[in-house]
Amino acid sequence: MYNKGAKMEITEILSRNFSVMSDEYRKFALEKDACRACSVYKNYKQVGQSEGNAKGPAFMFIGEALGRDEVQEVRPFIGRAGQRLRKEMRKHSKVLNRKTTIISNLLACRPKDNKFPSQKYGPYFLTTSRSERKVHAASVVDHCSKRWLFREIKMLKPKIIVTLGSKSLEFVTGNKGITVNRGRWEFLGPFKAWSFATFHPSYVMRCDNDESKSYISDQFNEDIKKIAQTSHYYLSHDPRLKMSEEEWQQEQALDVSINLKFSEPGPLLVPGFDLPGGFDG
Ligand code: SF4
Repeated sequence: MYNKGAKMEITEILSRNFSVMSDEYRKFALEKDACRACSVYKNYKQVGQSEGNAKGPAFMFIGEALGRDEVQEVRPFIGRAGQRLRKEMRKHSKVLNRKTTIISNLLACRPKDNKFPSQKYGPYFLTTSRSERKVHAASVVDHCSKRWLFREIKMLKPKIIVTLGSKSLEFVTGNKGITVNRGRWEFLGPFKAWSFATFHPSYVMRCDNDESKSYISDQFNEDIKKIAQTSHYYLSHDPRLKMSEEEWQQEQALDVSINLKFSEPGPLLVPGFDLPGGFDG
């Protein structure tokens, strides 16, 4: 049987994946489960679901797409690469855990043979009940992320968004180049959240087998540690994160540079903060 997780009812999957979930999110997740809007679905016939806090997470980690294990379990980051991420998160489980964090993906279905959509691997189609339209690979990712991931971000309003890998970085923040953008904080106005980019754990694992790139693993570990140890400063001190949506809209319309009232921490960073629980694997 291919889809192990799919043997479970979607309601059971949601109960298992989430520590807490709003009614609005439940509706969203059920709608997402029924999505057939592009040809990526046809490969493995399973839409993925996120995991963690689906009501008001402080953190959202965003990967790229599902792999084989993620499709079978209908859980994100549950395969070998996922375990690499979860291992690092568990080291900082007082901060990064199922009660504080949600893990999601840019593309909700598994691309064929784990090949992230590109013109090399197409063709790709956007589908409706009446038609099927051939599109560029990037349009499929754009369509899926707007339909699901960006709605998920807008609904849950995480204050810290962690992008894993170059695709997630590019689609969520608009920045290109994981090597130059990783390891630093950046405020994302459209999401009223701070973002932090690091490598995708599957890339980290590939580098572990390459002596000339073994430093990538250390950088990844340092990045997760930095998120856990410095996020407290942003969560506690940035007044924008405490604003209601209405206040934030007014602030932007008035063009009052509240940015100037917030200064990033210096090299002496505040320690992490305590929250209960852990991100199990
Ligand atoms: S990849 Fe996204 S848009 Fe396409 S069918 Fe899956 S959930 Fe829907």
